[in-house]
Amino acid sequence: MAQAFFELREPANEPYLDYKPGSPETEALHKQIEELKNQVIDIPAIIGGKEIRTEKKQDVTMPHNHKHKLATVYLCGEKEVNMAIEAALEAQKTWATFPWEEKVAIFLRAADLITGPYRYLFNATTMLGQSKTPHQSEIEAVGELADFLRFNAWYLTKIMQDQPFSPANNWNRMEYRGLEGFIFSVSPFNFTAIAGNLSSCPAMCGNVVLWKPALSSIYSSYYVMKVFEEAGLPAGVINFLPGSGADVGDPVMASPHLSGLNFTGSVGTFNHLWKTIGENINTYKYYPRIVGETGGKDFIFAHNSANTDELVTAAIRAAYEYQGQKCSAASRMYLPESLWAGFKEKFLAEVAQVKVGDVEDHSNFMGAVIDAKAFKSITSYIDFAHEAEDAEIICGGTYDDSVGYFVQPTAIVTSNPKFKTMEEEIFGPVLTIYVYKDEDFEDTLTLCDETSPYALTGAIFAAERHTLKFMADRLRNAAGNFYINDKPTGAVVNQQPFGGARKSGTNDKAGSMSHLYRWLSIRSIKENRVTPRDWRYPYMG
Ligand code: NAD
Repeated sequence: MAQAFFELREPANEPYLDYKPGSPETEALHKQIEELKNQVIDIPAIIGGKEIRTEKKQDVTMPHNHKHKLATVYLCGEKEVNMAIEAALEAQKTWATFPWEEKVAIFLRAADLITGPYRYLFNATTMLGQSKTPHQSEIEAVGELADFLRFNAWYLTKIMQDQPFSPANNWNRMEYRGLEGFIFSVSPFNFTAIAGNLSSCPAMCGNVVLWKPALSSIYSSYYVMKVFEEAGLPAGVINFLPGSGADVGDPVMASPHLSGLNFTGSVGTFNHLWKTIGENINTYKYYPRIVGETGGKDFIFAHNSANTDELVTAAIRAAYEYQGQKCSAASRMYLPESLWAGFKEKFLAEVAQVKVGDVEDHSNFMGAVIDAKAFKSITSYIDFAHEAEDAEIICGGTYDDSVGYFVQPTAIVTSNPKFKTMEEEIFGPVLTIYVYKDEDFEDTLTLCDETSPYALTGAIFAAERHTLKFMADRLRNAAGNFYINDKPTGAVVNQQPFGGARKSGTNDKAGSMSHLYRWLSIRSIKENRVTPRDWRYPYMG
């Protein structure tokens, strides 16, 4: 054990590189991309530190060029899940009592490897495997992931410093333990940083983890696992299990050793997993902790005092960046009639300049949507709007999957505030706009609050302070991440802790201390320095 109290200083958010055309970082990034494109890697499962190649495998391709194969991934089932549970529980014997500073040292090293020698690798794998532009990739696969690792390490030390009061003769202490059993971390496709955080945060807190990454982002997730290993993660602490949801999920959820679920993804999957936990409650040794961050139907609401240029910029960035596949992406907008004509003119002129295509071309603002399933689902909403009588597509509305899964930035205007695309999460570059009468401002706020089952992100735009306060009060429960005169995307670790309520999840706020508390189990220790030797109390005379 350490013979000192070690201290971590508050980290700073990782600065982003610009990747301007012709810059040294752009040159280095493209060299890395070429290297990766000229090889097809193997992605095995990693269980107890060993690579496992199963009989069942699948090709990993680029969303923006689906004929280009990047990797072969080996898929896990019940046998590999059982191996992983055994490896995790074995690793726990030493990991649970491993000193905190040794644990955080691993993840701090991983952060420095990601922002240092592997910066271009992390950026390039996310660009190629998830079709992100250099900017979108840099801000999350490098910046946000490193921020999660560094800030979580710092939060953990602050939590551990929180100790109870001790009166005379006593020493009261709180010990922050990991949970017994294992944590099941299930990550979505859309953020490399989320995948890295869901798997590493419980591990840093002293837990052992079974990690099921999304198959559609397996390419970058594999490199995340590799960097944890290179940084010194002991075998079995995090077990990497590629596979289909049910093939991996069913045997994991049936294990009596499940002690927590750390999930980010869709409502449907989360509901299924929560229900399974309820059904299996008598077979578990523990009450599994459930953390789930799910979908959104995120809004921009403009008052008639809002600035139109600001609204246009916010709408384009929030609705179309990463092809609208951010959980925080704006997908419905409320605009007053008095601003509509001016907004429409500027918006259409700007959207006409948004280019969609290969993410290696820096002039493109958007890449492809993630896979054939997403393409089919998104385009079915567009087709629905084409046919509808109470909606009009004012831009985009076209798509093409011959080379990659490309969908043009689409905006729908509807006279029906409850139109299907105003209510349901589409997870693609589709923004639906409802134009309200200026005098219906207050009722429209209520409409905005009550239209969707989600409450993830939302943005309000207005000039005057009373109006902003009024809007913020009316929409108090409509979003877990609320933006005033800013777009509703782009949360930064330690600045805007992220998560939503209602059907958007348990709001445990990744990127803050709250998230860590879910993976810690406190032991309260009372030590008496002068232990009583007579059982009689004074009142007894
Ligand atoms: P998804 O629900 O399809 O998949 C998420 C993960 O669950 C994947 O790894 C998938 O394989 C796994 N899964 C599916 N069935 C399973 C089962 N039976 N057992 C175990 N695992 C199973 O979601 P997605 O398409 O990857 O991600 C998009 C969704 O994630 C959107 O709804 C988006 O809003 C949401 N999201 C939310 C946040 C947030 O912080 N609120 C962040 C990112 C994404």
